[in-house]
Amino acid sequence: MRDEILNPLFSDISSIKGVGSKTLKLLTKLIDSSTIRDLIFHLPSNIIDRSYCPKLNEIQTGRICTVKVKIIEHMAPKNKHQPYKVLVSDGTENLTLIFFKVYADSIAKNLPIGAFRYISGKIERFNNTLQMTHPDYIVSEQDVAKLPKFETVYPLTAGISNKMINNYINQALIRLPNLPEWLDDEFIKKQNWLSFKEAILDIHSPKYACDLEPYSKSRSRLAYDELLANQLALAIVRERVKKQQGRVIIGNGMLRKKVIEKLPFNLTIAQKNVLAEIYDDQSQPYRMLRLLQGDVGSGKTIVALLSMLNGVEAGVQTAIMAPTEILAKQHFETISEICDNIGVNVALLTGKTKAKERREILQDLENGKINILIGTHALFQNDVNYKDLGFIVVDEQHRFGVDQRLLLSEKGNKADILVMTATPIPRTLVLTSYGDMEYSKIDQLPEGRKPVDTRVLPISKLSETVAGLKRKIDTGVKAYWVCPLVEESEKSDLAAAEARFEDLQKIFGNKVGLIHGKMKEKEKDAIMDKFANSDEINLLVATTVIEVGVNVPKATVMIIEHAERFGLSQLHQLRGRVKRGVSQATCLLLYSFPLSETAKERLNIMKQTEDGFLIAEKDLELRGGGEILGTRQSGFCNFRIADMNYHKNLLYIANQDAKLILNKDPNLQSARGKALRNLLYLFGKDDSIRNYRG
Ligand code: ADP
Ligand code: MG
Repeated sequence: MRDEILNPLFSDISSIKGVGSKTLKLLTKLIDSSTIRDLIFHLPSNIIDRSYCPKLNEIQTGRICTVKVKIIEHMAPKNKHQPYKVLVSDGTENLTLIFFKVYADSIAKNLPIGAFRYISGKIERFNNTLQMTHPDYIVSEQDVAKLPKFETVYPLTAGISNKMINNYINQALIRLPNLPEWLDDEFIKKQNWLSFKEAILDIHSPKYACDLEPYSKSRSRLAYDELLANQLALAIVRERVKKQQGRVIIGNGMLRKKVIEKLPFNLTIAQKNVLAEIYDDQSQPYRMLRLLQGDVGSGKTIVALLSMLNGVEAGVQTAIMAPTEILAKQHFETISEICDNIGVNVALLTGKTKAKERREILQDLENGKINILIGTHALFQNDVNYKDLGFIVVDEQHRFGVDQRLLLSEKGNKADILVMTATPIPRTLVLTSYGDMEYSKIDQLPEGRKPVDTRVLPISKLSETVAGLKRKIDTGVKAYWVCPLVEESEKSDLAAAEARFEDLQKIFGNKVGLIHGKMKEKEKDAIMDKFANSDEINLLVATTVIEVGVNVPKATVMIIEHAERFGLSQLHQLRGRVKRGVSQATCLLLYSFPLSETAKERLNIMKQTEDGFLIAEKDLELRGGGEILGTRQSGFCNFRIADMNYHKNLLYIANQDAKLILNKDPNLQSARGKALRNLLYLFGKDDSIRNYRG
């Protein structure tokens, strides 16, 4: 399958001269692979400029320089603790070379008295004499070519010196074949880019610091190649999914009309737009997989319900899966109230459902009586059989693993799937991880939402904070108190939260509850239930992120301790918990020192804005795209060359480019198509072209 022209790049680095078994191990670790290709993609991180060649009496000390000098005198040390010194001169001033722990023989040989030498290194002035300790280079006049004017510096690991890696990479570069161009000629001309090979060679021989910048010409070309490979691979996979048959869901609108008339509010324009997109998608004959993003409180539930009703009108069963019992119960209450008296059968199925009721539900599912089933992952257990499940909504998707999602899509009868998330994902990340997966955004909150009064305070203000909290709680308000849980020190953090809980108990008595990650799901649910649905608990101390999406109308105060330890998106999600329509909500961010620059910036942003999408973008900037939104497992891909802080524009171009390419040449058969296959191999995207006949 792989074109032979690529073979040299996929051969093993052990084939490089000088790479023995020990070096092989170190090198493999350093480049995270053992192929020549990855050695070539190991890019320089710095350069040393040795082109500064001053007269000694005019030298700027502290700078790397190269000087031509005559050897004047050797000064052997009196004991082994002293250095060996060699006095040299260029005729304008003397310079002392200093060597620790070296053999006098080799110095005498390399620096014979009366001879001329080129010497390169850093010169300092001590007690008014010029000194260079351990020169980087000492070469004779005839060997001057061995002294590089610019030395390329690579990221290293212990046991691999810069000279070694320069040598290995230079050998690898010799094997770099001329590959047929995969980019559009016009586009390359416009960007003024070199070919892939020329660009690689250029990157490995930087002349100035600016050659190392991500936006340098050659790095941009390579970043674009990487992004194009990414977008092309995603587009190929997506085309394949699109070819899967799906359900055509077109309801008559009757149920939806009744529900909309009953709602105490008008849908926002954003909700209407998103619904139009979803209905359109549902009506298509291919399988729908759409991501619905909407900030906390933007009104996703009603959107989910209306799209399910479209399914019910069209005669299919629908289901909505929530990540926890509490959320499932909440959805059930909301939805069954709205659907009361319109002839839609709604049921709740969770792990808590009693055996007898469960039997009845299972029966009604099989005979088709139930139109909307709400629940947790209990919805998709083996013995749950639907008559004709045609539309599935997954709420708060990031709580579910990929396996669960797969399981779910197999359950349905070619069911369309809508995935809802309250975590805003910046467009760049949607693009790089899902490609053009359809997504809809509710980018507007219902009218009349008051901004949360957000304050940033040092922990030294704790006693005032507690006093203020007491006054609020006495008026019937509920509050969250969040203490962070850091994985490495889970125990001590839990202890800190328990200590805080005990402190607060002294003031608030038994109205304080504690919830943490070490509790069983049932215990957590019980506490949440008391907080949400009764007056037994008014203040909830939590170590873990509070149940995403739980609606506790009376909770209008959020206190976050060690706010500096949270990511922006987490802070935003937490604050969203207290954002109520009518009453004024408060969020207090308590921080402790030391406060890093990034942490300061995060807290500032929280004070300045409540726009989830803006916050997500900032979060991405501050984290540099590595870890997004506190969920490592979310599968967002990491690039080796492309950097979203610099190459966003290239991503958008690559996205369009990939579409055009597949439109014209869906099987990558043309000359350019074949060249593009090389590109996919180069960036390890061969998975997507496997099974790709042609
Ligand atoms: P989320 O997107 O966080 O899941 P919900 O669907 O729970 O948000 O909606 C939050 C609250 O806003 C609910 O009480 C809901 O009834 C209300 N709501 C939804 N849409 C509107 C609207 N268009 N106008 C006013 N209130 C709305
Ligand atoms: Mg919700």
